[in-house]
Amino acid sequence: MGSRPRFQMVVDNQFVDSLSGRWFATDNPFSGLPWADVAAGSPDDVDRAVTSAHRAFRGPDWAEMTASDRGVLLNRLADLVAAHAEELAVAEVRDNGKLLAEMRGQMAYMPRWYRYYGGLADKVEGAVLPSDKKKMVSLTRLEPLGVVAAIVPWNSPLLLAAWKLAPALAAGNTVVVKPSEFTSTSISVFMHLVAKAGFPPGVVNVVTGSGPEVGSALVNHPLVRAVAFTGGEAAGVKIAESAARRIVPVTLELGGKSANIIFPDADITRAVNGVISGIFAASGQTCVAGSRLLVHSAIAEEVVSKVVELARLARLGDPMLAETQVGPVTTKQQLEKILAHIAAAKSAGARCILGGSRASSLGCGNGWFVEPTIFTDVTRHMRLAREEVFGPVLAVMEFSDEQQAISIANDTEYGLAAGVWTRDLNQAHRVAQAVEAGSVWINTYRTSAPMAPFGGYKRSGLGREGGAAAILQFLQAKSIWIDLGEEGPPPFVMKL
Ligand code: NAD
Repeated sequence: MGSRPRFQMVVDNQFVDSLSGRWFATDNPFSGLPWADVAAGSPDDVDRAVTSAHRAFRGPDWAEMTASDRGVLLNRLADLVAAHAEELAVAEVRDNGKLLAEMRGQMAYMPRWYRYYGGLADKVEGAVLPSDKKKMVSLTRLEPLGVVAAIVPWNSPLLLAAWKLAPALAAGNTVVVKPSEFTSTSISVFMHLVAKAGFPPGVVNVVTGSGPEVGSALVNHPLVRAVAFTGGEAAGVKIAESAARRIVPVTLELGGKSANIIFPDADITRAVNGVISGIFAASGQTCVAGSRLLVHSAIAEEVVSKVVELARLARLGDPMLAETQVGPVTTKQQLEKILAHIAAAKSAGARCILGGSRASSLGCGNGWFVEPTIFTDVTRHMRLAREEVFGPVLAVMEFSDEQQAISIANDTEYGLAAGVWTRDLNQAHRVAQAVEAGSVWINTYRTSAPMAPFGGYKRSGLGREGGAAAILQFLQAKSIWIDLGEEGPPPFVMKL
């Protein structure tokens, strides 16, 4: 421990140690070494943070703030994020090892989520309802839920927090953020900006620590009124079970086994770039990773050889350097999980035509690198075709017609995203409609925007983040009735 930097939790806009005074180390995926210490939370720290958020939710500074003023704060936060984008990007890379180039882009773009929901804050309208009763006025109000728990994973900590914070705050809730125990430091840099933007104390708090201890205590805290979660399926199921027991709404953004489907008339160069960016960017650690390449048999040889050619040349190395194209994976556990998936695919009979091992080339140092890996001869029943690897491992499968492509694409429990590559407009639309996925990209891959709903079909999730409707997940409707008649309600029977 010694001289390593320390990152605290945030309660009431104050940076605080954990109540136990304990710390845990966080590692740099490129060096493979601990570089900082993070406050190790416990259920007591969760209680302190949630109590603060609850107090803020009820307190006049936030509860009486107009929706327009909440929008002003969110826009101010967006300005601050934009001004500090470089600092935030560097903070992300240190902990999650993704390319600085990718994190720079993400941090420069992230303010748009705060602006979008900042603008939406005072456009959430109730309604005056047409009444079927004489002299009765009925109207609705959309009211915030209370304290929202925002639980995020390690692959894009600040962006995925923004997808929850922006709509939840615009709606008037308060939030407790729980970052991943592997990437807890960047939120600390961000929280300086939250205080500077002028959010009242307690409106956004942060607890750090493990999922099973701190995350679980947060989801189960009696004052938490909604849970917004991004992460793996196993944790998602546990969280949904807890939310069901407590009768609180939950949004789940989970994993995927997304297909990139290439038809014979596609622009092959463009499609190959899409395949590479779908699976090797961010070392495959994106929920929408295009981890299955579905390619028509007529062009399979050409496409696969071009993908291999490009992937073979990918420069692995220090994620902070501009020339690096593939960085390390974020955690040692993830490295081991990916290597186990590769071993299982080999023994199941898939043919490894590129990579397949931990990368140890010059430039990788002791970092947690996996070689860009490509398997052919993958069949539908192999684990590689069905389970999320969350690493730079591509499974190639061939099809002979559109129906077969759709059938293979949908033959998974997941349904997060898909790519369709064709110049045939009708085919593009047919396939986009038939694929069971929350996002479908045609002749492109892996893009998003605040105004577009994002989420999963099937086991990829529940609810949507992004888009105007996402704010409704953080609001509840109240019907108000006003009886203008002279008589009032009849005793003993319902007034209908
Ligand atoms: P994870 O599920 O292990 O952890 C995610 C978060 O949940 C962490 O903060 C963790 O501490 C917390 N957590 C774990 N167990 C918990 C519990 N029992 N109760 C409460 N909180 C708990 O996921 P990860 O390994 O950090 O991230 C990778 C996963 O996230 C992948 O499956 C990936 O597909 C998914 N992901 C999904 C999206 C999306 O938008 N759909 C985006 C990014 C990542």
